[in-house]
Amino acid sequence: MNTQPWIESTVVENFLRYVRIHTTSDPHSPTCPSTPFQWDLARLLKKELEDLGVPEVEMTEFGYVVGKIPPSPGYHHCTPIGFLAHMDTSPDFSGEGVKPKIWKNYDGSALELGDGVFLDPNENDDNKHMLGYKGQTLITSDGSTLLGADDKAGVAEIMTAVAFWMAHPEAVHGPIEIIFTPDEEIGRGVDKLNLETLKSKAAYTLDGSTEGTYNEHCFNAYTVGVTFTGRMIHPGYARGVMVNAVAMAGAFIAGLPRSEAPETTDGRYGFYAPQEIEGRMDHAFFRLFIRDFSIDEIHRRLTFLDQLARTIEGSFPGGKVELEATKQYLNLHDFLASHPKIMGALVKGIEETGAPAVGEVIRGGTDGARLSERGLPTPNIFTGGHNFHSRYEWIALPAMVRATQTVINIARIWTEDERK
Ligand SMILES: [Zn+2]
Repeated sequence: MNTQPWIESTVVENFLRYVRIHTTSDPHSPTCPSTPFQWDLARLLKKELEDLGVPEVEMTEFGYVVGKIPPSPGYHHCTPIGFLAHMDTSPDFSGEGVKPKIWKNYDGSALELGDGVFLDPNENDDNKHMLGYKGQTLITSDGSTLLGADDKAGVAEIMTAVAFWMAHPEAVHGPIEIIFTPDEEIGRGVDKLNLETLKSKAAYTLDGSTEGTYNEHCFNAYTVGVTFTGRMIHPGYARGVMVNAVAMAGAFIAGLPRSEAPETTDGRYGFYAPQEIEGRMDHAFFRLFIRDFSIDEIHRRLTFLDQLARTIEGSFPGGKVELEATKQYLNLHDFLASHPKIMGALVKGIEETGAPAVGEVIRGGTDGARLSERGLPTPNIFTGGHNFHSRYEWIALPAMVRATQTVINIARIWTEDERK
């Protein structure tokens, strides 16, 4: 059974339908979903799941769409697993009125997306991947908006897998839960997801980039608020009396190591990132965040910040420096390490498509990190998209096919040692 042509046409049709729906999220909105038009895609996905014959489909009051696909006959005892993708697109660039462009039989040249906007394969490392798809189909926007492959490619790939399972009762899998989430791009993707209603023991987000890649490492993330309290007095009579909170904040920031900043690190090195500052002579506030793949390195940085605070107090007698550290998310690897089957099925699922499986670290967080911390271990899989959050976003059709096949493979691989 050669299902590839069917997957190819289905995943493209799905993708083109979803990217035309405006779903930009808004960090300044208190609601969930943060923007009302995200409901348009949620409603469509609910209806499409129902039309495909998925027996249990729910759209929650917060705009999550959850579909439950029953196991194939004889596989009822297998472990339930989930697949997730997010419906929103990044507020960093316009996602309204997306007009996708299809480039068949790509010839390796720079593409003019529209009005003098060129996508050049030689411009950066991400674009160089285009040259691996000569003779294949690429999809871009018309250069006036982002494309929305992040993450409508993930949505389209999962929906294609669902259509496959519903049309092929002979395809082997256990119970599967499909979850589409709002507001991932503003860091709230799983905040209102009720895990009590899910049976999955493991899940996979489809929200990654280059074909064949997967992520089991993301940053550990803390935010640290630093409050400087000085003593205000008329500057003309200040000698020996004034303690200037603005000067204290400046000295504190100057004490952060330049070699451990976002702009001076990459790979597996973590950093201190100054984020915001405000203040007057009597009172100043500074916020930074710290990131590292190792929790020990996070603790080392927290200790360093504490010592730096004491040093500043020492050089500004009478001044006070207080720190408040808050955990944001943790490296999902630490939750996956005790469940080797999750990554084993992932790697095998990718390799069966013919692509080499390549583990990459995310210098950021994922919905999977938060889910893992809440008890649902969730690594991340490629979708095939590139240049996310920009007008230069592009995706190659063969990568979308492989991502879809990876989902189908993983579902089958999970049953291999579980069938009764
Ligand atoms: Zn994404």
